[in-house]
Amino acid sequence: MQDLYFKLVNTAFGKTAAQSLGLPSPIPLVRWKRSNQPFIEGEVLMGSAAGSQAIAALGDILSASAAQVFYASGVGSLRDSEKASSRAQPLRLTGELDTSFAALVFDATGITDTTELRALYDFFHPTIRKLASNGRILIIGRPPAECSPPAFAACQHALEGFTRSLGKEIGRKAATANLLRVSPGAAARLESSVRFFLSPRAAYVSAQVVHIGEPDTAAITVNPVTPLTGKVALVTGASRGIGKSIAETLARDGATLLGVDIPAADEELQQLTHRLKGRALTCDITAAHAGATIAEFVKTHFGGVDLVIHNAGVTRDKTLGKMPMHFWDMAIAVNMSAAQAIDEQLMAHNLIHDNGRIVCVSSLSGIAGNFGQTNYATAKSGLIGYVEAMAKELQQGITINAVAPGFIETQMTAAMPLTVREAGRRMNSLSQGGHPIDVAETIAWLCHPGSSGVNGNVVRVCGQSLLGR
Ligand code: NAD
Repeated sequence: MQDLYFKLVNTAFGKTAAQSLGLPSPIPLVRWKRSNQPFIEGEVLMGSAAGSQAIAALGDILSASAAQVFYASGVGSLRDSEKASSRAQPLRLTGELDTSFAALVFDATGITDTTELRALYDFFHPTIRKLASNGRILIIGRPPAECSPPAFAACQHALEGFTRSLGKEIGRKAATANLLRVSPGAAARLESSVRFFLSPRAAYVSAQVVHIGEPDTAAITVNPVTPLTGKVALVTGASRGIGKSIAETLARDGATLLGVDIPAADEELQQLTHRLKGRALTCDITAAHAGATIAEFVKTHFGGVDLVIHNAGVTRDKTLGKMPMHFWDMAIAVNMSAAQAIDEQLMAHNLIHDNGRIVCVSSLSGIAGNFGQTNYATAKSGLIGYVEAMAKELQQGITINAVAPGFIETQMTAAMPLTVREAGRRMNSLSQGGHPIDVAETIAWLCHPGSSGVNGNVVRVCGQSLLGR
């Protein structure tokens, strides 16, 4: 589906008209283009509050990038961080800055009391207006629940409001701001997440708060171009839309695909799996024995599975008073029950390999609720509950996370009434809809072997939608 308004405001006439009428002027998002593309290029400024502990790990990650790295100096509340990286150059924030930053990266893990929050102002006030279009802000903090005394926890929580407000201020530049909360001792697990959030892969992910814990599995070295080599990926609803993009992206990253979809989608599914050299299984995931059928297929053809992506979903919208019972039942069955049934069967037969990944595709409706979607929102919210509960139970390095797409341009959203569709596109900080690839890239990051510390999170892919938290 074409976003005609977006196309119009990106013409010279349309831009001027939109500006003079005070209408949104979304800037095209720069997305990932080629496999050997550096995760970040240009000039990156790092800074850290006194006492922060992630700066050395950040410095190592950024030193290995194609970026020219600077660290902030000359400001009292900031640590003059020679530890930032051997390759980083000092940059005094006191004078006029003539740099255009591709990213601003700030280690706030050392902020323990309210006076130290000033470091946020001191770092971002002189630099924020120098952030380039499609730029990135990444803040590193601590999980408040792991901070004591309460004043420390409060300051670390405060980073959430700061990050989300920054996201709203820089969205019109197509720039994003995100917060990684890293547990003490887990700084070595930051890399896959820092690389993702600073890269064009995260173009439509803004204002997210992600917890990175310390898993009990050893860190693994992987091929940076095809990190999923040797992995088997099960993707439900793979024949079209977001599922198709997930399948293509995981295959691009080296995984072997097992695509599942309903019999009516057989032709598209076969075409896709043939092209990606994977296998197809046509099956209605709500059928009584679907979990067992899938488990049997996995066992016979692959011996096990590494990545399980519960993507299949349907909407059956009606206000509750007018909703037929079969609309309710179907939305719950496809969007919620099927994921649990498939996982149960795979786990009962020990078919999810160690260090496996389960990702559930939820929705913003499951967070904010939506008119006419009591059934769908119940199911998508239930998926979030499932992820949070299962994250505490899974062992052998298996993680489970959810992604919650906002407005994504697919056949599902093309079927919406025009006014609802237009509102969905514009009501976010980036003033545009996302693409299936934005959801797929987020899932590929969660599936990365290096993302072992990311467990039990819900990551919205919504351009910082104004709906929900
Ligand atoms: P889509 O309708 O284009 O694709 C859904 C896929 O699921 C289809 O291939 C369909 O055949 C398959 N499917 C449906 N019922 C099935 C069943 N019983 N068994 C097996 N396969 C089944 O939708 P999409 O926009 O690509 O959405 C993908 C996922 O993302 C869904 O879970 C959806 O709820 C979620 N989501 C989408 C958006 C959006 O804006 N498009 C927003 C939030 C969440």
